[in-house]
Amino acid sequence: MDNCIFCMIANGQIPSTTVYEDDDFKAVFDIAPANPGHVLIIPKKHAGDITELPQETAAKVLPLAARIGKAQMEALGADGFNTVINTGEAAGQSVMHFHTHIIPRYKGEAPMVANWIQKSYKDGEAEAIAAKLREKL
Ligand code: AMP
Ligand code: ZN
Repeated sequence: MDNCIFCMIANGQIPSTTVYEDDDFKAVFDIAPANPGHVLIIPKKHAGDITELPQETAAKVLPLAARIGKAQMEALGADGFNTVINTGEAAGQSVMHFHTHIIPRYKGEAPMVANWIQKSYKDGEAEAIAAKLREKL
């Protein structure tokens, strides 16, 4: 894809700090890391987001994420890691080429989970929403 910054990173047109590469993926440092060693897994073939990612590529993302996260724990002393996929502008996706963030995390840091406002369902609302979803699945 022309003018796609992650396509350019994947094909080497834009320099990146690369920690892993294979036929399908390049794993590079995020230019504005949440913590040092924050990695982005970028598929080499353009897909706008997770819904456009071919299943055979998608199936390789989680094992690679686990491998990179484990390396962050072993090599950087991280106590854990966040695996984050943002899909759509409303969800915070700013680069429209699928990518997975692997962020090393340390004890004592504010956890990233549940930084949304926790809501509740009204009577019958959960079942009505679940029915809509089931119809599409
Ligand atoms: P997202 O908001 O999930 O789309 O994440 C996009 C990420 O890409 C952000 O965390 C940016 O810091 C990162 N980013 C943008 N441009 C570059 C670049 N040239 N090299 C590395 N990371 C980048
Ligand atoms: Zn792209």
